[in-house]
Amino acid sequence: MMDYLYEYAQLYRHSKRHAAMVIKAGSVLSIAVNTPSKHAEEMALVGLTLGQTAVATVVCFRIKKDNSVGLAAPCERCAALMREYHVKDVWYTTNTMTIHKAQLKTYEPKLKWYAQETNNE
Ligand SMILES: [Zn+2]
Repeated sequence: MMDYLYEYAQLYRHSKRHAAMVIKAGSVLSIAVNTPSKHAEEMALVGLTLGQTAVATVVCFRIKKDNSVGLAAPCERCAALMREYHVKDVWYTTNTMTIHKAQLKTYEPKLKWYAQETNNE
C-alpha cells in the first residue's frame, strides 16, 4: 500500500507532494494528491458519500523534495473535514519511514510541527 502511494505521489512534480487515500474494508475508495489550493485529504474525500466514508480510514503520505518520505500528519482543517465525513482512523507517514496509526476521535493536529517541517523545504 505504501509503495503504491509513493509511486502515485511521485507522478506529481510539485514540491509539496502529499497524497491521501480513503480505504474501507480493504477497498480503496479514492486517492488524490494536493493541489495549489486543496489538501490531498480534501481532494480524496470530495465526491464520496457519508455512507462510503463512515468508519473509513484515511491514509496520508508525503514525499519531500529529496524524494524521502516525510511527516504527513493532517492539518486542523483536514481533521475537521474527516470528522464531518465520519472517518474513523487516520494513518500518516512520519519522517522515520514509519506509519503512525491514530483514531480520528483522539487525533490532535500538530500544527506547529507540520508548519515547521513544511517551511524547511
Ligand atoms: Zn490539510
